[in-house]
Amino acid sequence: MSKKPSQAFVALGSNLENPVFQVQQAFDELKQLPGTQLIRRSSLYCSAPVGKLDQPDFINAVALIETLLAPHDLLKALLTIEQRHGRVRESLNAPRTLDLDILLYDALHFQDTDLTLPHPRMTQRAFVLMPLMEIAPDCHIPGHGYIAPLLAACRDQQLEQIKESP
Ligand code: AMP
Repeated sequence: MSKKPSQAFVALGSNLENPVFQVQQAFDELKQLPGTQLIRRSSLYCSAPVGKLDQPDFINAVALIETLLAPHDLLKALLTIEQRHGRVRESLNAPRTLDLDILLYDALHFQDTDLTLPHPRMTQRAFVLMPLMEIAPDCHIPGHGYIAPLLAACRDQQLEQIKESP
């Protein structure tokens, strides 16, 4: 019997070297991961930087994938894509050519040295919750509840939806 794929939500972000292109290209690279299909992708959003303020605005989006990759294999594959985009790890909240995070993987709720699910900071960030709401309005975040009230609590964070050329 063939294995049933898992559903995972991946956050994409970039604020260097043509961020719109970086994120659009990353959607294509998600499609090419082994045993993985891109099911849905959000619009692109533009957000002001958080934490370290003297850096360019970010482009953010969220993708829903179905994948046969186990959580840690998916994480490894995402880090490989980040490296292909020339990601240099400086400090937390530093500018980056591409950041890929696993927000949710099925209903998994756990933490080890490499991976925390759900992603630990996702529930405080409008730039994650808004694109996630767009593609999964009934989304339940294990340990936190449904997305709508979480997003409402972030309404002071500014975010602009971007019109993409067809
Ligand atoms: P950053 O790219 O700076 O957000 O940090 C990436 C590192 O965070 C990775 O090397 C992972 O080991 C760790 N990490 C923990 N949980 C997650 C997650 N849910 N998604 C992506 N990276 C995670």
